[in-house]
Amino acid sequence: MTQVLLIEDDSHIRRLLRISLEKQGFHVHESARGDDGIQRFAGVKPDVVLLDLGLPDQDGIEVLRTLRANSQVPVIVLSVRNTEGDIVELLNAGADDYLVKPFNTAELVARMKVALRHSFPPELGSPLELGKLRIDLRSRSVTMDGREVRLTPTEYSILRCLASHAGRIVTHEQIIGEVWGAQAGQDSNNLRVYINQLRKKLEREPSRPEALVTEPGIGYRMKI
Ligand code: CA
Repeated sequence: MTQVLLIEDDSHIRRLLRISLEKQGFHVHESARGDDGIQRFAGVKPDVVLLDLGLPDQDGIEVLRTLRANSQVPVIVLSVRNTEGDIVELLNAGADDYLVKPFNTAELVARMKVALRHSFPPELGSPLELGKLRIDLRSRSVTMDGREVRLTPTEYSILRCLASHAGRIVTHEQIIGEVWGAQAGQDSNNLRVYINQLRKKLEREPSRPEALVTEPGIGYRMKI
């Protein structure tokens, strides 16, 4: 059974989430404070953590940093804050995803499943298949609907970066760091130019992308 650690001080939200998640077959451990959550984390060894940002004893982002210091467990942040700066900070601090309250539990469960799947990385060399798109990491070949798509090395690197985090948001900073290296001095406008090129090659209607979706002010998400 998938073990969930829910760190949230609002007992109302905890109860609601526990009931809905247990119906979906998850086992839910609850914690109302950051320090208690960190302590329980070590005992419970959860498969996924749901983390509220506004906790009574410390900011959720501090809890996230503490967890990330020695664990790659998927962490989904639950927040009432939804400014771009906050979200970018969270994702760069290692959150896998975030949901802005109020959210619906079906969406939460869908995001949890994506996060859980990514905690077991695909075997190196096995092709990624996302709908009609197929990316063979070993031969660096990309096909769409069986037809070969020709990509430049930079386009390929960006696509591989988004595909390896499929379903999740990847920030501008994360993509730039992965593709060009942290010191490269690239900016998000330049990245947008490459994304537009990729859309022309991959999307049926590049102006209305279905696979490479913009998360305004934050980054991009490859839809699955
Ligand atoms: Ca709270």
